Amino acid sequence: MTKKTSQPVVSPTERPPIVAVLGHIDHGKTTLLDFIRKTAVAAKESGGITQHIGAYEIEHTLPDGTKKRITFLDTPGHEAFSKMRSRGANVADIAILVVAADEGAKPQTFEALEQIQASGATLIVAINKIDKPEAKPEKIKQQLAEKGVMLEGWGGQISNQEISAKTGAGIPDLLSLVLLTAELEEFKANTQEEAKGVVIEAHKNARIGIVATLIIKTGTLHRGDFIVAGNAVGKLKTVALSDGSTADSATFSSPVVVTGFESLPEVGEEFHITSDKKKAESLAAQFKATAQQPAVVEKEIQEGKPTLNVILKADTSGTKEALEKIIGGLVFPAAEVNVVKSEVGEITDNDISLAQSVNAFIAAFKVKMPPNIAKLVQSGEIRATQADIIYELVDAVKDALRALTPPVIVRHDLGTLSVLATFKIEKTRMIAGGKVTSGKMKKGAKADVKRKDVVVMTGKITQLQHNKEDIPELSSGSECGFMFVPVAPSEKRIEAGDQLEIYEEEIKPGSLE
Ligand code: GDP
Repeated sequence: MTKKTSQPVVSPTERPPIVAVLGHIDHGKTTLLDFIRKTAVAAKESGGITQHIGAYEIEHTLPDGTKKRITFLDTPGHEAFSKMRSRGANVADIAILVVAADEGAKPQTFEALEQIQASGATLIVAINKIDKPEAKPEKIKQQLAEKGVMLEGWGGQISNQEISAKTGAGIPDLLSLVLLTAELEEFKANTQEEAKGVVIEAHKNARIGIVATLIIKTGTLHRGDFIVAGNAVGKLKTVALSDGSTADSATFSSPVVVTGFESLPEVGEEFHITSDKKKAESLAAQFKATAQQPAVVEKEIQEGKPTLNVILKADTSGTKEALEKIIGGLVFPAAEVNVVKSEVGEITDNDISLAQSVNAFIAAFKVKMPPNIAKLVQSGEIRATQADIIYELVDAVKDALRALTPPVIVRHDLGTLSVLATFKIEKTRMIAGGKVTSGKMKKGAKADVKRKDVVVMTGKITQLQHNKEDIPELSSGSECGFMFVPVAPSEKRIEAGDQLEIYEEEIKPGSLE
């Protein structure tokens, strides 16, 4: 790496892809990452990487003999999973979605898929555990197709590879696929720029201070440069590569471990490197100024179109960003979302006041709903929903959006009746007798009164009798007595010879399209 920076290239050059591995729990992400790490780490790192730094770099030999590098974001353990996942997808150029062939796609598979789509990373599907006798890879392809994820060979373009993270089958092909995808996408970077990238891990070490892992997306950083990541600033004291060796400089895609931050940077934060102290200070000041502005996402609202104000609450900044894109992007011809606030953390009293003042819907992802707020939701004072799965949250917001659109009334015809006689006829209620000529007559149903094929009145059947006994419904061929209540007091009267068309109405939520 040091060598590379001493022979800089002027124009943008191809850079190794940065890859994240996502998917449902137990589908084999860790096994896959471990297998790749063990078998394909770059020769210089063959001493074995002992420390975990959140990412590692491998070298893969393509079928034509060319060797190329890939950086993998390592997402170990399930506790860190959700945080790493959202962050990983945002840093990554390519995301491998692991789906176990024995279990098939699961809710977290689709959740990961939505995050990948929101992050803009290129998707590759790895169908894992094909060594298992119960593996059904074709079923997964079908399941994904049903969700609109069309794999190559299944009417679509999404690259996919059947693998076994246990035996290693298909993994070299998966790595070649990653490099082929990178080649097509042309990820470019420039060694001559000041480095930019993302902080992927940060912690405080009692002896050496703050230690952060960075993924450089473009440019070069040097020991002694200034670094700004959000409101954290510093001067790079040491730079280490993923094998633990120190370096004077480093360039793109490689994960590097640096010390020198004065305060802990936020994981997932973008960093900028500069050799100019003034520029570093001005970048940090700019960040502080924007951070003080209220987190209100301004959006032009189309006049006349119903808009649902939404307050987003998320567990991590990565998921917050993904939610802003996914939920903020819910724009339909009939209604749309306007995100008025988006924040990491629990629902607070401030959120409640804002929700009440702008009549907003609170959508909380993986954050607890405090009991006092749950009560307000139950009593209908505020509208809020909490979910641990993104698409459930999206569905709840869509339901709230639908509630803003005019409902659709669906008519279900039940039957017809011929009026034989009338008994007691008043403006607001009419008692008559007749014969069911098709389908059925039902108490509580609606009825159109037709005379010479013209509807003269509409109302409701409020009582139904057969042989002087109250009954709920009656089928074709039978005679009955009934009370008809018009929707509005009517000058018209039911007459013998009239036809009743009996039906029920179903009120369905409006369509967003
Ligand atoms: P993660 O939660 O997605 O990281 O899943 P893990 O990598 O921890 O794998 C979950 C379980 O599946 C472990 O017991 C693995 O040994 C097993 N496993 C992972 N990949 C394969 C595979 O390709 N074949 C078989 N038979 N088992 C696998």
